[in-house]
Order: sequence, then structure tokens, then C-alpha cells
Amino acid sequence: MDPFSGSTTALPPTDYAGLVAIGWLETGHKYSQGEVSEEFYRRLLELLKHPWMPCALLGMHGCDLCPFQEVEMEGEMFRDTRGSPSGNLNLFIPGRGCIYAAPELIKHYIPDHKYAPPEEFCQAVLDCPAMNSDDYFEAMKRNTPRNNRTWNAAFRHRI
Ligand SMILES: [Zn+2]
Repeated sequence: MDPFSGSTTALPPTDYAGLVAIGWLETGHKYSQGEVSEEFYRRLLELLKHPWMPCALLGMHGCDLCPFQEVEMEGEMFRDTRGSPSGNLNLFIPGRGCIYAAPELIKHYIPDHKYAPPEEFCQAVLDCPAMNSDDYFEAMKRNTPRNNRTWNAAFRHRI
């Protein structure tokens, strides 16, 4: 899946204007690889400790890039990802005129699969105010398109 594809499979079917998906990696799809700064990665982990999420999410998302075993069940082969890293949190980061949405597994993809997120996302993480602070929600509101009713409603409930 292209990190800029806008895929929002983990969110309910609502209004996604201004939402940019980052780091939704999947086996069989190319993604950018490289090094990231330690400062960026430490900040990313900090923001992921208690990320604000506007909606409940269903189930865990497992890494399917890790080596896996196949198991046979009733004559068919299935991929066994039970031992793979997984997560069910999402991280929302205010960008410049957009909101980035990244899965919790991005903290695994970067060191273990050499994923290199787009530079503008890395900068947004470095610039992001403390999670759940007034400044965070101000930045989120400032960068959400005015006509996005879903996001505006989420912020109304929070503040
Ligand atoms: Zn993995």
C-alpha cells in the first residue's frame, strides 16, 4: 500500500478530507526505505505512548512483513502471523493543512523493516505539540479542512 494512498481501513466510513495515511505497509507493496533520525524516532515513540484517537478501532493489525510460517488447516495453507508484532493504536499528527494518520506498527516498521516515512511527516512529528495538550488540539483544528464535519465533531467532543 502506498503510504500516501489515503487508505483508512481502520477508521469508520466517514469523511476523510484532509487525512493522509502514513506507514500502512503491506507485503507485496513497495515502500520507501532508509534511515531516520534518532530525534524523530524518539519523538514518535513518545507520541505513541497515549495517542489521542477519535474513534474505537476493531481488532489488532499484525505485521505481515516479518518472516512467517505457513500452517495447514483442513488441507489449505495459511500464513501464521501469531508471533508477529501487532498493534491497534493509531497516531494522528497535525501536518500543514492536513492530518497524518499512522498505525502503531510504524514503530516496528522503521527499525525492523527500514521504513523511511516521507520527510514532511517526520518534520510534523518533530513539530507536534505534546499529545493531548491544548496546543495539540489547536494544531489539529488548524490543519483540519473547515468543511470536514467528522473531524470537527470529534474535536467538539474533546474540547
Ligand atoms: Zn515486521
